[in-house]
Amino acid sequence: MTLRVYNTLTRTKEEFVPRKPGRIDIYQCGVTPYDYTHIGHARQYVFWDTVRRYLEYRGWEVFCVQNVTDVDDKIIAKAGTQGVEPEEITEKYHRDFLDVMDKLGVERPDEMPKVTQHIPEIIKLIKGLVEKGYAYESEGDVFFDVKSFPGYGKLSGRSLDDMMSGARIEINTKKRSAMDFALWKSAKPGEPSWDSPWGAGRPGWHIECSALALKYLGSGFDMHGGGDELVFPHHENEIAQSEAYTGEGPFARYFVHHAMLNIDDVKMSKSLGNFFSVRDVLEEFESGVIRYFFASRHYRSPANYGVDELEAASKAYMRLRSTLDAGRRALAKADKVEPREVMASGINLGSAAEEAERKFIEGMDDDFNTAVGIASLHDLVRVINDFLHATSGTAGQNKEDLEDLHQAVSVLETLGGILGLFQEDDEAVEDTGFVEGLVSLLIEVRDDLRIKKEWSLADKIRDSLKDIGIILEDTSTGTVWKRM
Ligand SMILES: [Zn+2]
Repeated sequence: MTLRVYNTLTRTKEEFVPRKPGRIDIYQCGVTPYDYTHIGHARQYVFWDTVRRYLEYRGWEVFCVQNVTDVDDKIIAKAGTQGVEPEEITEKYHRDFLDVMDKLGVERPDEMPKVTQHIPEIIKLIKGLVEKGYAYESEGDVFFDVKSFPGYGKLSGRSLDDMMSGARIEINTKKRSAMDFALWKSAKPGEPSWDSPWGAGRPGWHIECSALALKYLGSGFDMHGGGDELVFPHHENEIAQSEAYTGEGPFARYFVHHAMLNIDDVKMSKSLGNFFSVRDVLEEFESGVIRYFFASRHYRSPANYGVDELEAASKAYMRLRSTLDAGRRALAKADKVEPREVMASGINLGSAAEEAERKFIEGMDDDFNTAVGIASLHDLVRVINDFLHATSGTAGQNKEDLEDLHQAVSVLETLGGILGLFQEDDEAVEDTGFVEGLVSLLIEVRDDLRIKKEWSLADKIRDSLKDIGIILEDTSTGTVWKRM
């Protein structure tokens, strides 16, 4: 099986061939830290974390770079209104970003370069573009001359003429052509600035990604990620700057764009007042629920977001979790009893585990279809549940059954782990052991009460457990329990 990836450059799903065998270099446009990280941003980072985990699972070495845009109009404006230095703003919100990403189980990138720490690299790139005739200085600003780069428009599939007719043409007498964009902006009073061959100023937004990607990954790296709203102009401009500078292409082999997150069908945007910070969402839902919510939708489909969607994700995720817990409990229990000859369950859990893994890989190889991945987990969970029910009295003491259960639980953990699920488990496992002990004790007490025909007390135990979400089932071989 080979991995196929939808490449915006060609508008087709292509077979993925890395630049170097065995290694995949990824760049994604990172955050502009001027506010709390919102759930719409999280879609991107969660998706790329899943991609990374999957590629590593398939045996590739993965190297990820993600920039931090720590100089920007929005940062400067916010620092101005609060009367603080811009760094205070960027540090505060970048910390929030790292914190909530850690909580979502998003692995940190290998490099997270900040723009303000790479001004010399950016100036060098702009200088090179000016020398090669792709850029020009005008009253302290430097612009990229889009007409000088023949491939301009190849990512967004638009010709320069189309862009010109569709654009709101701003009057800027400094520019040669309306579509030209700023590489360097001359300093305005009170704003952060750096010395350059064109006087004091700061870099434009697009140039930073070219400079940082070329520095950390070099020309022709594997995947470039970002939201589909960045196709034009941001990524179009990155390509023009980078390929004009290096004199070779492609800048990136595969451009992989995710769709926006909508809130109640309205395009998510802060200006519409429907901002939800990841921090707030994590107060209500555990990280696995949020990861489940994202994974259950294909990254290129716009997804609707709301409390209803999260609650549905929570219910579905808990079905996976409670089966995983029950499977672990059954394994722990089997460890404690002497093996003896018992009939096999007749349920082929081993082949169900293999089938789930096959389906998962097939889905993920088809342009990272995480929704198919989720479906394969539910398929496996259904068979594990049947198995646990059938073997509840024997604690999996049949040797083959026990091996199958080990395999199925491990496959569920591994595949779920690729999607970022079950990461809250360290704590949950301890909890599980504790809950297991308490519930077993209550079941024993209830059995004693039933022997003594103390029915109302026995029922009270069963009903009270049900109230807190624990269901007791009396089977021919004893009482078993599960979470609702
Ligand atoms: Zn970028």
